[in-house]
Amino acid sequence: MVIVMKQHATDSQIEGVVEKLVSQGFDVHRSTGVERTILGAVGAKVVDIRDYELVEGVQEVHRITQPYKLASRAFRPEGTVIEIKDVKIGGGETVVMAGPCTIEDYEQCNLIGERIRAAGARVIRGGAFKPRTSPYSFQGHGEEGLKSIRKAADNHGLLVISEIMESSQLPLAQEYIDIIQIGARNMQNYGLLRDIGQTDIPALLKRGMSATISDLLLAAEYIMSEGNHRVILCERGIRTFETHTRNTLDISAIPVIHELSHLPIVVDPSHAIGIRDKVPPLARAAMAAGADGLLLEVHHDPDNAICDGAQTMTLEQFDDLMGELKVIAGAVGRKTATANAL
Ligand code: PEP
Ligand code: MN
Repeated sequence: MVIVMKQHATDSQIEGVVEKLVSQGFDVHRSTGVERTILGAVGAKVVDIRDYELVEGVQEVHRITQPYKLASRAFRPEGTVIEIKDVKIGGGETVVMAGPCTIEDYEQCNLIGERIRAAGARVIRGGAFKPRTSPYSFQGHGEEGLKSIRKAADNHGLLVISEIMESSQLPLAQEYIDIIQIGARNMQNYGLLRDIGQTDIPALLKRGMSATISDLLLAAEYIMSEGNHRVILCERGIRTFETHTRNTLDISAIPVIHELSHLPIVVDPSHAIGIRDKVPPLARAAMAAGADGLLLEVHHDPDNAICDGAQTMTLEQFDDLMGELKVIAGAVGRKTATANAL
């Protein structure tokens, strides 16, 4: 942290700041110029810089290191590749995860699983515990649903990604799920994050709808600081003043996160835009911008899906999109996991 004192700061004001820093465990390096004094504070402690901005005689305060350590790019400059069975996430290959918003029954999972695998997806998605805005909406089929998606995934050589909403669901995750999804609404459920951090199950952490990129990386830090470093970040659209779309996909988050963090970043265009026909353009954009994966809602009969049908692609739309993604991947120097299947 660097503290720039005001031009006419008195010696006692400068001493006051130095004492405060030392009492908080910082080593202080003082640079006294003709016009003003600059204090460099070195230490591992994370402080609220506003506490220093308010001190008399202080002009401005700058943080020079990020408050997240384990999630920062500096921690692993070469980038993280998360290996789950035969799938690698984060290594220059864009992994496609697809499936229904919610698990409806085994036949549905099996049919969708077969089709998405044939098109090149490596992971099937589907919620058994649904975080619905209204408590009266369908809440998910729970363990029965997880059994269905697990069986379908195993039939077709797919991994399972599914959301859990509370720590009591961790034993079920251990039994049925390859990647735990942490939903946008739970990004800052720190107890859940810490508990997932104590397992070794890979976690896909969705960005909260009002969360900054720093908030997302600090949420990842909660999981990692408990020992689980297998964290995949997910941009799923944020709330803005725009009303034509469900959320606004923050494409900028992809290159920015790649610079700030070594963790893979996956994009969910379905929840971002919320409109079926407009998901493919966003998916293409995310691929072009360097996303390490895509999370897509796909259903064999989306008009009759139990939830999120309006933003869920048909299997035919999915097939077409996978073809387009391959072309874009080639153009931007990425591989698609689809290569394995086609
Ligand atoms: C989902 O993926 O089905 C979901 C509920 O997403 P989000 O947490 O991003 O709203
Ligand atoms: Mn959904």
